[in-house]
Amino acid sequence: MSTHKLFPRLNKEQEDELISNVQQWSLSNGLVMYPPNFEIFQVNVAPITIYPTPISKKSFDKAMDLQTTYNELYINLISQHKKYLISILSELSKFDPNFTGKLFEIYDKVKNNKQNLSLGIFRSDYMIDQKKDEIKQIEFNTVSVSFGGLSNKVSQLHKYLNDSGQYTEYKTKYYEESELEISSSIREIAQGLAEGDKYYNGSKKNTILFIVQPNERNCFDQRHIEYELFHSHGLKSIRVALDEVKEKLTIYDSKLYLKSTMQEISVIYYRSGYSPDDYKNEENWDNRLYLEESHAIKCPSILTQLSGSKKIQQLLTNPEILEKILPDNNLPLLSTFVSIYPLDNSNLGEKGKELAFSNPNAFVLKPQREGGGNNIYKSEIPKFLKSIDEKDWAGYILMELIYPQSFQNKILRNGDLYNESIISELGIFGTIIFDENTGDIKSNKNAGWLLRSKFETSDEGGVAAGFGCVDNIYLY
Ligand code: ADP
Ligand code: MG
Repeated sequence: MSTHKLFPRLNKEQEDELISNVQQWSLSNGLVMYPPNFEIFQVNVAPITIYPTPISKKSFDKAMDLQTTYNELYINLISQHKKYLISILSELSKFDPNFTGKLFEIYDKVKNNKQNLSLGIFRSDYMIDQKKDEIKQIEFNTVSVSFGGLSNKVSQLHKYLNDSGQYTEYKTKYYEESELEISSSIREIAQGLAEGDKYYNGSKKNTILFIVQPNERNCFDQRHIEYELFHSHGLKSIRVALDEVKEKLTIYDSKLYLKSTMQEISVIYYRSGYSPDDYKNEENWDNRLYLEESHAIKCPSILTQLSGSKKIQQLLTNPEILEKILPDNNLPLLSTFVSIYPLDNSNLGEKGKELAFSNPNAFVLKPQREGGGNNIYKSEIPKFLKSIDEKDWAGYILMELIYPQSFQNKILRNGDLYNESIISELGIFGTIIFDENTGDIKSNKNAGWLLRSKFETSDEGGVAAGFGCVDNIYLY
């Protein structure tokens, strides 16, 4: 087994110089985020590591190799096993009527629409099990996957610091060329959206609609993709909050247009709408329905969004179900699963309930939610389960904890440098365009990667939420 180099070692003076360069490179190149309660003209450097974190080539290559297979698995589920998916989602809706249920209701109203094409921009997240040096999946994200923009920027930053000699005392390169790759995520995510536009109505260029959260602090992550869309594809984009849908957009002959200019919208790209907090009132739900009724290609469609639920992930760990949905080439996926239990009345569910109380420290309990901050960890699990009605337990899944290796990297956040043990989560992006009725796949691609890290002592890892940072890979 190959081993990795240690982190670069600089003296205090060199490190101070490195850090001021990191700050100014980041501001110059848009490796930034808005601070809380921001003014539009003031940004912060995004929370980042100043060095890349070691990831074995074996694990990285495997995760990259699996992405298009994972994309296909979810697309097969949505298009070829729609009845099965719908039966699960309607069951889930009973446990979560105010979110899953409402999305599912919208699906029911729009399911006979003529637009069958669907665009997926996905991210499969892994931690690398320390003992076996094997990637294990944390979750598969099908809606509003973020950090494609900043991931590309942080890998550019680290490459610049390395190549310009700032990681060594004598101004030489510390890492070899092949050890630092640049994530292509900005280019490839934009490419996915541009292909969506192309499949919408051929060579005519339309506008891409970004549905965004009001006051989005992570908006530069999205902006990088918008500028790439414009510069490389000549495609304009427009940012609209769920609140503003009827004010800014209109449907005519089932096509969606920008009211002010009557430019046609080809793709609706949701960077909001994945959490109940995104729907402030009934009008917001009506606005989602309005968008869904239009002929524009959705990224993602409602079924695609809901197929990313934790319950589906749990079901897919069952080898028989996996085999049915992806008959070919499913073994490599199987090796990335850890045990996930339902907490229902099935045999596996009974086992899950027992484990939740007999060995909670080995598990994380997850509700059907996206976006961070929702999970319950270890010893908190029994207390939490006792606090809710047992018939609601089936709305949760119980997942075995993964233990990755920790590294002593340095995190820069709000001007402060933290020298701490961190653990990392590797995300691989993928894009896929498919026909939701026939399962016909027009395009299925990898779209770069993301490494996010957090203090080993924290359970959650959300960067925007303040628990983690954007990292980069040193391949060994
Ligand atoms: P969300 O949809 O909120 O992003 P995740 O399933 O990704 O939910 O969990 C949030 C975070 O919790 C992850 O980014 C990871 O840091 C941690 N986590 C989740 N599942 C596990 C696990 N099985 N083992 C270790 N850490 C986990
Ligand atoms: Mg996650």
